[in-house]
Amino acid sequence: ESAGGHPESPSLFGGDPRVGTDLLCVVRALLKKIKRRVLVGDKVIVGSIDWADRRGMIEDVFERTSEVIDPPLANVDHLVVLFSMDQPRPEPFMLTRFLVEAESTGIPFTLALNKVELVGKETLTAWDERLHNWGYNPLFCSVDKKSGLAALEDILKGQTTVIVGPSGVGKSSLINSLRGTQSISTEDEINKLLELNSKWFGEQRVGDVSKRSGRGKHTTRHVSLLPLSGGGFLADTPGFNQPSLMKVTKRTLAETFPEIRRMLKVSEPLKCSFNDCLHLGEPGCVVKADWERYPYYLQLLDEIKIREEFQ
Ligand code: GDP
Ligand code: ZN
Repeated sequence: ESAGGHPESPSLFGGDPRVGTDLLCVVRALLKKIKRRVLVGDKVIVGSIDWADRRGMIEDVFERTSEVIDPPLANVDHLVVLFSMDQPRPEPFMLTRFLVEAESTGIPFTLALNKVELVGKETLTAWDERLHNWGYNPLFCSVDKKSGLAALEDILKGQTTVIVGPSGVGKSSLINSLRGTQSISTEDEINKLLELNSKWFGEQRVGDVSKRSGRGKHTTRHVSLLPLSGGGFLADTPGFNQPSLMKVTKRTLAETFPEIRRMLKVSEPLKCSFNDCLHLGEPGCVVKADWERYPYYLQLLDEIKIREEFQ
């Protein structure tokens, strides 16, 4: 587990001039027994620090504000849902699945649309209007043409962000363009850790490590947080390109649609007659059917109902 020196956690080093120093840490055995494993992004208390060898021991883990499973990360406070305007084109139902998945994490997110240079102004305007009707305020960009990236960097400032989206939309390209030039690659990082590890634990231990996470044999997904120039961190691995909707139930699905949230808010304190209304035309339901994504809501509700029946 790479839980290194966290430049933004003064509680760790409290004014120590060595703030930002990376430490290779082991996790105290007792801690492993009583808590779940330490994740990248965890805020931790490090003891037994050996500054010369840059080693330490994780003594305790702070409460997490959030936990992302794919990639495994703690304390993520922002997501970017990335789609592209062309190659591939946004498919409304698939986009909805991603938005529902993002909403279900409870983590604030930005919807960004890449490859804007591939389409005309009318297409952009049409999508902008459409997404506003859904309840979103999309950000348009082109990683290739380096446009719209300053606005995105501004949003990411001071936050820990994961980029999610389907394949081919430019997630890796965006990560590379945001990571700056001085950062070392993940592969380099692993090799550096292996080298340090061999110094401390001897060759045998290195064999174990490289078998599990070393070159060419990535059985576990390695994720690192890249420090951003404006402050904050970006996960070097993109997240869920297959939304599972596992956190969504038939009762909570409605809350993941801004359109429904809006209708329920407007009708307050009226609300639907039934507390457990699924907004399928029940008597006294305040959710109308006259909006673009209502069929998607119904389709996802069916899917979730089937899943719940078989659980
Ligand atoms: P990922 O699968 O989401 O990580 O997508 P990649 O970053 O691998 O990009 C997929 C393809 O889209 C690559 O060929 C990129 O060069 C290309 N691409 C990325 N950004 C842009 C862009 O802004 N405009 C265009 N035209 N192509 C882009
Ligand atoms: Zn209802």
